Amino acid sequence: MHIEYDARWRARLQGAGLMALFCGTVVLALEGQTQPAQAPQTSPAAPAQGTAKPGELGYTDTPPIPGQKWRVHDVDRPQAPLVTPGASPGAPPSDAIVLFDGKDLSKWVQRQEGQPVEPKWPVREGYFETGAKTGSMMTRESFGDVQLHVEWAAPPQVSGSSQGRGNSGIILMGMYEVQVLDMHNNLTYADGGAASLYGQWPPLVRAPRPPGEWQTYDIVFEAPRFEGDKLVKPAFMTVFWNGVLAHNRKELIGPTLHRQAPKYNAHEAELPLTLQDHSNPVRYRNIWVRRLAGYDGAPRL
Ligand code: MG
Repeated sequence: MHIEYDARWRARLQGAGLMALFCGTVVLALEGQTQPAQAPQTSPAAPAQGTAKPGELGYTDTPPIPGQKWRVHDVDRPQAPLVTPGASPGAPPSDAIVLFDGKDLSKWVQRQEGQPVEPKWPVREGYFETGAKTGSMMTRESFGDVQLHVEWAAPPQVSGSSQGRGNSGIILMGMYEVQVLDMHNNLTYADGGAASLYGQWPPLVRAPRPPGEWQTYDIVFEAPRFEGDKLVKPAFMTVFWNGVLAHNRKELIGPTLHRQAPKYNAHEAELPLTLQDHSNPVRYRNIWVRRLAGYDGAPRL
């Protein structure tokens, strides 16, 4: 029998008594400890506790799954990484990178004459606001394929119309925008409203809340892939707007542009996430991101 486990579990197992190994079944006695003190961030094969019956941990005599390297119920297939979910809906899970927790903008920069500078966007009680007319703000860290949670609110004091009312944007890799806009009694072109993939796709449905109320975007973004200058896989975007599906793995035609047809140009595999300053005081809070990996421990989707 073969078990894959990472260094963390290896260390844990060294402190545990491996009592018996038979018939594809592992029996572990965790000395003086019925459960790990803290769930590991990644545990490709968290060992079962107690006695497992033959077959409970998988099989060696089942047919292969078409298109995969694994058998059906393969005993050797690694377990998925273990993640502790957020304490409440919308709270960051254990493997998230928290980009804003209500306190400071330490994970962000702005640019001035090409140089990174401390953000000028004001932080208030538990949220920050776009520093209108100070320029967009980007993460210090770069990202490619991600799950992203963002909460935003259009300005409670309504002013402007169409693209001038509560406009900001969540710009993945600084190039692919999910529009932020006050949609309350505010008409604009269909591919420029909130949750649109700006200039390319309107959302499947509009699910806005009034200005001043907190709204959520839950985004899954697949970065485009290039080989040299050649596009080998376009970007894809999935967006839930206030919990309602707005885009279902929709293919992007290229980077976001205004009044121009998009076209891909090769770029890095990871780039900073940008929040747009469109000269309106839009509010943000609770922003976190998870880098995405593939199935069975593959490093990328
Ligand atoms: Mg915008």
